[in-house]
Amino acid sequence: MKYKSGKFFIENISAAKIAKKFGTPLYCYSKGFLNKNIDNFKHNFKSIKPLICFSIKANNNLEILKIIKKNNLGADVVSKGELMMSLKAGILPNKIVFSGVGKTSEEISFAIDKNIFLINAESESEIKLIENISKNKKKCTGVGIRFNPNVDALTNSKISTGRNVDKFGVDSKILIKIVNKFKFSKYLDIKCLSVHIGSQITNSKPYTKMVNQVDSLLKKVKYKFDYIDFGGGMGIQYKKYSKKLNYKKYRRSINVFLKKNNVKIIFEPGRSIIGNTGVLLTKVIYIKESKNRRFVILDAAMNDLIRPALYNAYHNIIPIQRNKKIINKIHNFVGPVCETSDQFLTVGSYNKLKENDILAICDVGAYGSVLSSNYNLRTRPSEVIVDRSKIKLVKKRQSILDII
Ligand code: PLP
Repeated sequence: MKYKSGKFFIENISAAKIAKKFGTPLYCYSKGFLNKNIDNFKHNFKSIKPLICFSIKANNNLEILKIIKKNNLGADVVSKGELMMSLKAGILPNKIVFSGVGKTSEEISFAIDKNIFLINAESESEIKLIENISKNKKKCTGVGIRFNPNVDALTNSKISTGRNVDKFGVDSKILIKIVNKFKFSKYLDIKCLSVHIGSQITNSKPYTKMVNQVDSLLKKVKYKFDYIDFGGGMGIQYKKYSKKLNYKKYRRSINVFLKKNNVKIIFEPGRSIIGNTGVLLTKVIYIKESKNRRFVILDAAMNDLIRPALYNAYHNIIPIQRNKKIINKIHNFVGPVCETSDQFLTVGSYNKLKENDILAICDVGAYGSVLSSNYNLRTRPSEVIVDRSKIKLVKKRQSILDII
């Protein structure tokens, strides 16, 4: 995705052309960029040879998942719906892991019927339920147990999952108790110890701590896990000069760990695979001047992209047609939803804009469309994938009449 003679292009097609054809707001992904991210991820952990399970919660578009599957990735799912979507995309059951604190018996039963690779359980009650359901089906189910290592991922508190105040996983004492209680079960094969400390992690230190915590737990538990699932969480650069995760340091700590522990590794990346491959094209409906600021009112709103309102997340907004005129005034980019929190970005100056101009909200591939809603009874936007000079509509805009 780049500018060519002042015009923003997604692969070989100008954003202006895409917006004209499909309307706005519009989620627009680059297939080439997605393939490149997957290659980079594989390259970063080449020496470790992990099983990479894409975290479907970041983006569950069927056509995106088909690209993921073509790259031989598995899936990390957190609901029956995500599991069904992964299977529909052709992702092999033996590469699917099922995470989440509140799986229902219906979901567990469905996952067992589909012979997925692992159910990562997060409590003793869940393990008991998996055992009971497996017994009724006369099956032995592959399970993991999620460890809460009490490590602060040093990210946004709302997306931290590995502290002892967070609802995820169990502490080392309970984990050891669960292993000892269920290790001889005929209906459970405890294959994996899983851990995931949070999302948008850009500091490698929490990862090193996490790996060390797993290492000391393995010494105490005295049980041979075949797999360690280190989850996902690798952060991306939403701002040009923001901190980048040092993959070398993370990899180094895993390599040290692997010298001491003969296990295979699983990763569950979401954001790092899909985050920067998508933009949300949006049109300026109105420009409203006030004494000290200019409100740029867009046709995209918090129902289309909730991350700024929910997490104070930063997403850059760029004009798809650059010009040289800069207006030195505070610009507030807002949506039409009746909430003050329906704001995307505030900047001190911006390219001269006019009503009907098209802008691109950047890096919305992860936790963008999946978190969209019908709030204010607005329809969910269309989605397209650009593949060199081709565009494919991969989700049709909802119609208001369908909803009503
Ligand atoms: N695995 C689990 C269990 C998660 O909860 C998440 C999301 O928080 C992920 C993987 C994916 O995280 P990310 O998109 O940050 O890589």
